[in-house]
Amino acid sequence: MSAKNGKSPAVTPELLHQLPKTDLHCHLDGSMRLSTILELAEKQRVRLPADDAPGLARAIHQGERCKDLVEYLKAFDITCSVLQTEDALERAAYELAEDAARENVWHLEVRYAPILHTRRGLSLARINDAVISGLKRAARQYDITTGVILCGIRNMDPRDSYRLAELAVAYKGRGVMAFDLAGGEAGNPAKDHQESFALILDNNMNTTVHAGEAYGPASIKQALHYCGAHRIGHGTRLAEDGDLLAYVTDRRIPLEVCLSSNEQTSVVDELSRHPLRLYFDVGVRVSVNTDNRLITDTTVSKELWLAHQHLGFTLEELKVLIVQGFKSAFLPYREKSALMRRVNDQLADLTGSLPRGAVLAREVDREDVGHAFDPPSGEFKIDTDRV
Ligand SMILES: [Zn+2]
Repeated sequence: MSAKNGKSPAVTPELLHQLPKTDLHCHLDGSMRLSTILELAEKQRVRLPADDAPGLARAIHQGERCKDLVEYLKAFDITCSVLQTEDALERAAYELAEDAARENVWHLEVRYAPILHTRRGLSLARINDAVISGLKRAARQYDITTGVILCGIRNMDPRDSYRLAELAVAYKGRGVMAFDLAGGEAGNPAKDHQESFALILDNNMNTTVHAGEAYGPASIKQALHYCGAHRIGHGTRLAEDGDLLAYVTDRRIPLEVCLSSNEQTSVVDELSRHPLRLYFDVGVRVSVNTDNRLITDTTVSKELWLAHQHLGFTLEELKVLIVQGFKSAFLPYREKSALMRRVNDQLADLTGSLPRGAVLAREVDREDVGHAFDPPSGEFKIDTDRV
């Protein structure tokens, strides 16, 4: 499907599948193939709650609504039970990148907590080597760039998070792009893991923190002010605090939004009420992501389609969401700039026009810029009564 005649095509699932995309928030252990879990369990003699695909899908609540985040997280015990060998980890990482590349994700950031994969005695380094090796194998085969985000776990001992932060530092520039904090949010404040983030920041590394998903804006504040988060995972409840919303917008702090996942964990009642629309309209840098391709039964293409169907995102707006995803990537600046140029070309080829904002400066209408940069006209007086 090409739009070289300059006419904007209709938004269809097929078109969204073709567009270049990012997936910045995607968990390795939540994004396996069902068939792979079954095969690995048989090979490793691991007992699963079901031995066929429909039974296993039910056991992990695939795509089903859960009472809360804690119930949703139980599915990970099942997937992690077969991710305890290097072969399994390499394969899961490879297949995830392959699945992403096949829906035209051009940049994928895969997150996981190596500490959940040590049950059979593997060291953290060997676990991480296996995951990076799987991603690299896919990147050699497909048109995709990848990176790993290591996760500390909120509901585990902060000393475990610290070990993972040390691992992230050891792999800086060698496959690991950032450090994250995942796990049960309520009752497990991010500031308990502050030492881990101090180590990460001291080593000039990127951080993102799951926040504002199962807890309110106070959790986002902690992520930003105690942990120095450069991006926020979810941020669904940011809308409850207008002042913090303005802070996040003004500092261009990207939110990694995961629509279906928020519906599945009952963070939002229904998609049409998801704050993604508000965030986009006030100018927050937002992207759409899968969170867990298997457990949430989704893809980035599907998430964009949901934004179109339930939140009225037009093709032009979806293109902006896509561009914001690339802008938010934890890639080195030069690499990102080169990738952005290719993305703009591809978007223009497939939709007939460049994404909004990707225009020459001299073509920008002054009305669009507003008056923020205008020098004050006339005499500028300070109202001393109010200072
Ligand atoms: Zn997540």
